[in-house]
Amino acid sequence: MPSYDYRCEDCQRKVVLTFRTYAEYDTAPKVCPRCNGARLTRLISRVAIAKSEASRFSSEDDSVLDDLADADPATLGRYMRRMGQEMGEDMGQEFNEVVERLEHGEDPESIEASLEIPEESVASNPLGLDD
Ligand SMILES: [Zn+2]
Repeated sequence: MPSYDYRCEDCQRKVVLTFRTYAEYDTAPKVCPRCNGARLTRLISRVAIAKSEASRFSSEDDSVLDDLADADPATLGRYMRRMGQEMGEDMGQEFNEVVERLEHGEDPESIEASLEIPEESVASNPLGLDD
């Protein structure tokens, strides 16, 4: 069951709301269990997201992941898009970009390289100058 941390603007407490399904999370009214206040602000917890990812991966049939190792980029992209949608989380711009490039048939290794190289070059050569 998905559960999320919120801060209640009325009583200023941190509260946890648990939903039966991701669809319920989308549609259910968010009400503070302590004061019945409706002004709840979602607290984004990277730890919680990581945990939900890990539990999803461990519940996956391992053979699915084995198949993906040999899958063509478009298949991999469709799988990642579906996984992102099932998570019900905003996976971020970089994730979406990777999915789109995979779906266009781009090689996963070249995508990975193009995403990583700029960060490394900035770190080792912050001004972009040649020696
Ligand atoms: Zn409250």
